[in-house]
Amino acid sequence: MIIGIPRETRAGETRVAATPETVKKMAASGKHQLVVEAGAGAMSSIPDAEFHAAGARIGNADEALGGDVVLKVRAPTPEELPKLKRGAMLVGLLNPFDAAGLQSCAATGVSGYALESLPRITRAQSMDVLSSQANIAGYKAVMIAANTYGRFMPMLMTAAGTVKAARVLILGVGVAGLQAIATAKRLGAVIEASDVRPSVKDQVESLGGKWVDVPYANDEERKIAEGVGGYARPMPPEWMARQAGIIHERCKAVDVLITTALIPGRPAPRLIKADTVAAMKPGAVIVDLAVEQGGNVEGSELDKIVVKNGVKIVGFGNLPARVATDASALYARNVLNFLALSLNAKTGDFAVPRDDEIIKATLVCENGAVMPRP
Ligand code: NAD
Repeated sequence: MIIGIPRETRAGETRVAATPETVKKMAASGKHQLVVEAGAGAMSSIPDAEFHAAGARIGNADEALGGDVVLKVRAPTPEELPKLKRGAMLVGLLNPFDAAGLQSCAATGVSGYALESLPRITRAQSMDVLSSQANIAGYKAVMIAANTYGRFMPMLMTAAGTVKAARVLILGVGVAGLQAIATAKRLGAVIEASDVRPSVKDQVESLGGKWVDVPYANDEERKIAEGVGGYARPMPPEWMARQAGIIHERCKAVDVLITTALIPGRPAPRLIKADTVAAMKPGAVIVDLAVEQGGNVEGSELDKIVVKNGVKIVGFGNLPARVATDASALYARNVLNFLALSLNAKTGDFAVPRDDEIIKATLVCENGAVMPRP
């Protein structure tokens, strides 16, 4: 069997779905041929020679995409689709909410496994690409904010006087938000954070942040706020209006605002309106991590820094791709752990466990058809 690792071709994508470490493990049995497309690791600082030394053959795009198992980061592009082999196993971030994209993927006849659909169960944690990549995004968001902000993050006492610590507000405290809190804290900033899910309060406080509370008017609001499977649900307009009012007041005082709020399969909730941006201090920086899902902040634009009344709104997409080497290393381990459900690394035996709940949840297309959503 051939396991192919193509070079990612989407604009700005620097990651690769395997590393020499994971290639070595997949090649260990000697039963399978690993084919890495030439240059696949270049943007993650992994030379072809390292893949070769780990046991891979360096091939071209046709060979890597034509494998029996194809490991990718992003969903195949229209140019890549015709190169896939009918019946092959395709693993990657296949964008399960993109109906048209899934349909064209299904038309190739591959069995497509979308890693975004992994269930949030303990056994799947080592495969959880959303968490591994969101963690990186949260870190990088703070780095970008610090770099864009015209002042220090920590409090400094110097002979020339005292510099105040930056005040950082983080909205949406999932994986990315928690890492953003931890990273900003290490830089010496003063942190406040808020989320719709009530369970997050303790996590914020244990990281040294101050919880910004948006009260629930009734039990129904609280129930919705608890979300499902670790994910948030859209909140009623009354709660959103209450949140906007409280956040508006906090935003007047903050120097850095990082927004990470997402709801799976839906546009990102709009948390910050133009009037709130207008009320912020000149020189303040906003990093909108939800920009690719429509943005949490009115006025944020994909891959741009928009300046409104002296406030810089950073809307860079795909932040993990800006930490390419570690993002690839973690993603590749997630993929290896997912593949281990079907591939016995020692014996080389390969059989997809059709009844495994992880396999069932991630299988998005097979035999030319899109699978019904679970
Ligand atoms: P996400 O990326 O889907 O969303 C980011 C955050 O935005 C979430 O915390 C969400 O509650 C918040 N949000 C949504 N709408 C909002 C609004 N209107 N206002 C404020 N905040 C809003 O979430 P995520 O980071 O992927 O994970 C969410 C949770 O799942 C985390 O608590 C994480 O620890 C948990 N998780 C569990 C497992 C597991 O058990 N195996 C794996 C991964 C994550």
